[in-house]
Amino acid sequence: MSVSQKSGRPMVSPKTRRLSARQDATAGTGTILATPEQFKIVVADDSRIYRSLVETTLVQEDYIVLFAENGREALAAMAKHHPCLVVSDWEMPDISGIELCKKIRQDYESYVHIILLTSNTKKDQIVEGLAAGADDYLTKPFHPGELLARVAVGRRVAELHRQIQAKNLLLEELAQTDSLTGLPNRRAIEDWTKRELSGAERHGFELWVAIADLDHFKRINDTYGHEVGDMVLKRFAGVLRRNTRASNLCGRIGGEEFVIALSHVDRAGVETAIERIRLQFEAEEFSFGGRVLKATASFGIAAFQGSLDPSPDTLLRNADAALYRAKHEGRNRVEFSS
Ligand SMILES: [Mg+2]
Repeated sequence: MSVSQKSGRPMVSPKTRRLSARQDATAGTGTILATPEQFKIVVADDSRIYRSLVETTLVQEDYIVLFAENGREALAAMAKHHPCLVVSDWEMPDISGIELCKKIRQDYESYVHIILLTSNTKKDQIVEGLAAGADDYLTKPFHPGELLARVAVGRRVAELHRQIQAKNLLLEELAQTDSLTGLPNRRAIEDWTKRELSGAERHGFELWVAIADLDHFKRINDTYGHEVGDMVLKRFAGVLRRNTRASNLCGRIGGEEFVIALSHVDRAGVETAIERIRLQFEAEEFSFGGRVLKATASFGIAAFQGSLDPSPDTLLRNADAALYRAKHEGRNRVEFSS
């Protein structure tokens, strides 16, 4: 490894003080502390001279550079440090630059920008490299300014990819969230329930679904206005959140309807949990404009206990029937599906 071979251990020489980190990419010698703005690069080349040339060039920028002497070391460094950019020699003793490209494209979901260094100027070889997954190439001997410029381009592309990835994650989350209460929405609940149902079927545990419906909610909205209605919905969401263990799920399926899904619990446990929610909500007081309002909710519960049709729809339908009974029998109560 480039640094180790001079000193026997990783170090930062005065000459390379602007290089944030240089170290044995695989030996695990110390931790690299990178700020979010710092950009990690893995350089793979079996030639000591070229590693040194690349180092001398990249030292001019604030990159974290990890050196590998062959393809295997490069892969190990990538697994450990997740760089956004790889500069790889074409010809290496174990894995060729081409194979390395293919492996990275195959194994990494996140985007990694790959620049191949090659002594080969034949166009069909360059085409082969790009087809294998390289983004760019430089012919040896390279011009230091050109390497820097191409690494900067790679950084721009890699950072754009990271931004898109982060935004996609956010969008996915938003698509699964009810905007008023911040709880999972119907789609998220259905996805979760589907997953839990197949687990319940495979491993033989029970899955319970409770539908909660706020009592006389239309009347609250009509009498006191939607702002008060929203406040009541948010408060109910808060009660649900406080009473939901990490392994369970609560969400809003629309209007004044909510769902609580519980697993790995028996009937008595479910009843206790839902009763607690009912009582806590009943105890809430809503103050506005010098007035105090109270609200209640009704609950219908259904279970998946190894029936033949383990679909979220069936569960929700059964819970809904139980909820209807709870409403019919006076509201502010919990009923189980028969
Ligand atoms: Mg070589």
